[in-house]
Amino acid sequence: MPMMPDNTTCLNCRQCCRGKGLVYLNHDDEVRAAQYLRMERRDFVKEYCKRSDNWMVLKSKEALDCVFLEKEGCRIYPARPEQCRKFPVNWPYPVTNEDCPHS
Ligand code: SF4
Ligand code: SF4
Repeated sequence: MPMMPDNTTCLNCRQCCRGKGLVYLNHDDEVRAAQYLRMERRDFVKEYCKRSDNWMVLKSKEALDCVFLEKEGCRIYPARPEQCRKFPVNWPYPVTNEDCPHS
């Protein structure tokens, strides 16, 4: 769980895994997640990723939930993308209460 700016702990509301925002992937993200799922990287990309402009991003499920968001939480949490690891403490933009209710 990430620590929040006020040193409280992320309450795991999973709001950051929902909605219209995109999860951008770098090469290491793809390799790490594919290894975690015991897949070839190209199969991982085919099944779980799509292109947005020139970027590779995770697909979404219905209601725009991240493709890896399940009832129990993130299916690839130990291997989650760098973007997910950085939110919200090391985020390059101001994080609003709407983005993260505990920020
Ligand atoms: S990869 Fe995991 S942590 Fe990242 S948005 Fe998807 S469900 Fe959330
Ligand atoms: S929105 Fe904030 S509090 Fe909720 S899971 Fe994400 S980081 Fe944690």
